[in-house]
Amino acid sequence: MLKERENILYLRKNEETVDWLQSWKFTLFSLLEDLPETLRQHIASISIDGTSATTIIIDSASGEPLSEPFLYNESCPDALPAVKAIAPAYHTVCSGSSTLCKLVSWWNSYESSKESAVLMHQSDWLLWLLHGKLGVSDYNNALKVGYDPENDCYPTWLRAQPYSYVLPLIQAPGTSISVIKEDIQTRFGFSKDCSICTGTTDSIAAFLAARATQPGKAVTSLGSTLAIKLLSTKKVDDARFGVYSHRLDDQWLVGGASNTGGAVLRKIFTDEQLERLSEQINPLEASPLDYYPLQGVGERFPVADPDLKPRLDPRPENDAEYLHGILESIAHIEAKGYKLLKDLGATPVEEVFTAGGGSKNAKWIRIRERVLGLPVCKALQTEAAYGAALLALKGAE
Ligand code: ADP
Repeated sequence: MLKERENILYLRKNEETVDWLQSWKFTLFSLLEDLPETLRQHIASISIDGTSATTIIIDSASGEPLSEPFLYNESCPDALPAVKAIAPAYHTVCSGSSTLCKLVSWWNSYESSKESAVLMHQSDWLLWLLHGKLGVSDYNNALKVGYDPENDCYPTWLRAQPYSYVLPLIQAPGTSISVIKEDIQTRFGFSKDCSICTGTTDSIAAFLAARATQPGKAVTSLGSTLAIKLLSTKKVDDARFGVYSHRLDDQWLVGGASNTGGAVLRKIFTDEQLERLSEQINPLEASPLDYYPLQGVGERFPVADPDLKPRLDPRPENDAEYLHGILESIAHIEAKGYKLLKDLGATPVEEVFTAGGGSKNAKWIRIRERVLGLPVCKALQTEAAYGAALLALKGAE
């Protein structure tokens, strides 16, 4: 353990040589060490969420990686033409940072034997350290490699590819894979029956944390950007607006993300100013100011316009009025987002929970209630880890 700790400190000092797998493993085991020893034997199940589209190719014979991990935001434009040639138009894999583009890029460049290669997502790899069975993933993580969650299988066009054998078996998130490996169990003092369950992506885990379980319930994340996620009985996809659906058991989690959000506010006001100025706002009164707050040019959702310019003028002399106008304008974009999802066929939104830095602003919540015409409240839990724990609970039942 000490050696690992020193290793990480060394890695941190030398950013260019970061060994991601070592650092993730170290963090996982540090977290397990942090669990009070008296509680460890009572833990019935464990699940983990990870960053979507962070991809690792492992040699199933040795358990060793066959390349550096591909990080979530890494783009592989070299693979895009090949992926576009096999996938349906506008499929979610048709983006340079999709898991499938990463796999194809690796496949085309890796020179040695690929016979025993197996693809894993970040959470699959971390879970594997605990259960030891290679080649299992969940249908949330697998969406960006091309898995079809509606028909619960890999599509024919993907199965026909020479690299299809590296794709993992897919289970629903929160499905028990196996009991914990014996060496981990004895090292940390877990129960022999502790079950390790399939995980999900970070953002889905954060949605699950809010415990919005009925169709029509939604979570708006007001962080640097504005992201909405709505539980729907119907699957909705529209690549023009970057709208796609994740499966959650027998429902769909429909999402869209706008480029507006807190990052624009932070450019104009400090968090302390935001709090002070918000106190002066009467949320029951509509602001006459109409803006489109963006950090730069271009918007995808709920307006698909790469040339859309930020609109933050005219600026009134009174800063509280200015902030009121911006908060209200962002609320209108949020309302337009939910309307677009409904127009595309999703279950209409009935209640909105809020996560992210903007959720602590009670005046903004009241403004949004008026603009959306819906009940809006701050989600009690928004940590992705809480959502992963709920998946573990599901797997233990
Ligand atoms: P992310 O994780 O996406 O970077 P956070 O969820 O941490 O973002 O939220 C940070 C954002 O919250 C900042 O952009 C900031 O402008 C915004 N924010 C912080 N305090 C307030 C507030 N009182 N009212 C509205 N927005 C706020």
